[in-house]
Amino acid sequence: MTGNASDASSTTAASTTTAATTTAAELDASDPLAGFRDHFELPEGIYLVGNSLGAMPKRARELVTTELDRWSTLGVEGHFTGDLAWKDYHELLTDQLAAITGARSDEVVAMNALTVNLHLLMVSFYRPTPQRHKILIESHAFPSDHFAAESQIRQRGFDPADSLICVDPREGEETLRAEDILQAISDAGDELAMILLPGVQYYTGQVLPMADITKRGHDVGALVGFDLAHAVGNVELSLHDWDVDFAAWCSYKYLNGGPGGVAGAFVHERHIADQEIPKFLGWWGTQSASRFEMATEFEPIPTVESWQLSNAPILSMAALRSSLDIISEAGGVAALRKKSELQIAFFDHLLGETLGDRITNISPQRLEERGCQYALQVTNGDGKRVYEELEKARVLCDWREPDVIRVAPVPLYNSFDDIERFVDILDGIVQ
Ligand SMILES: *Cc1c(COP(=O)(O)O)cnc(C)c1O
Repeated sequence: MTGNASDASSTTAASTTTAATTTAAELDASDPLAGFRDHFELPEGIYLVGNSLGAMPKRARELVTTELDRWSTLGVEGHFTGDLAWKDYHELLTDQLAAITGARSDEVVAMNALTVNLHLLMVSFYRPTPQRHKILIESHAFPSDHFAAESQIRQRGFDPADSLICVDPREGEETLRAEDILQAISDAGDELAMILLPGVQYYTGQVLPMADITKRGHDVGALVGFDLAHAVGNVELSLHDWDVDFAAWCSYKYLNGGPGGVAGAFVHERHIADQEIPKFLGWWGTQSASRFEMATEFEPIPTVESWQLSNAPILSMAALRSSLDIISEAGGVAALRKKSELQIAFFDHLLGETLGDRITNISPQRLEERGCQYALQVTNGDGKRVYEELEKARVLCDWREPDVIRVAPVPLYNSFDDIERFVDILDGIVQ
């Protein structure tokens, strides 16, 4: 397996456990989180695609049904009635989202969808001037992030050809080098208005050094935001302490919020009271006391909630609550990550032992640079066929052009046995 092992002295997954001598059955038997699998309804087969759509918590049915029942019995009064009043329902998600992202409660809110939130946050944090107008992204950014950044640049009267900087892996390498990202930021210097990078890269699974990127961005006077689609619920985050300016994420990947589920946004506390920040406004951002008097004077909620536009998608929020409760009960992302590191060590070991150089994982090898997702390339170039055979064998994973099979053992519901069975099946398919 390859990857940018730029610091050979650092921890690799295989060195952290006795994976080599432990069986899947033993690892499952001693796994304190093993019981959490029972909180989910999993499709038939081996579900290894929580990186794309997290599994369904059984409790989602119950919490969504509760809201359907409230709708049927209370009708419009559901907005104002009881502990679950819909007008305040988003607040039920805040503390858990803050814990997962390493934020203060006034810095996070569940709202909208991810790309919508990226746009809203760029309205606020991309403030180009003729001197400082550039946005730095990565060239392999998720297409939606590319489109969002480019259209924001055009919207402000600039040209992506001059104003968009894309950082690339080096020739012959798959993942980005931290030093290259930091150098690109320094090189852009006082022309750099904003950085928009992923916390975890969707294709390779690489975790970017968010704290270092934020610091370097601030050193040159830029604002720094992260797309946390693949990071949230997967790796530990400290958005507040890292001093990140803004972030957004979706909830349907590692947060198991359900298809198209309500997304989230973070704005650092230090920006919240700043009345100078441009912002698109809606009635859900104004204080709720005056909101229902239909006052047309905007009185911002003194938290990130002032970025809210519309009344909230309650059914989706109910589903997400069920999953956030499970994550809390499991001990939060720190506990999940602890198990994930054991799963990574086990998976690395089995892949190396069973498939040798027939399969390459292009994720970085160092633990601190990877989440639970693997990006597997079939060495003989036969990846698409292998993916199709995996599908026929009811292994749920995904194919990403040009040549990667993504699989993610998710510690909340995947067992060590899932990993072992997957490697067995893969071994039977790859020539
Ligand atoms: C999944 C994902 C998206 C999807 O955006 P939506 O607005 O939720 O459809 C965007 N960006 C990244 C990096 C993603 O991984």
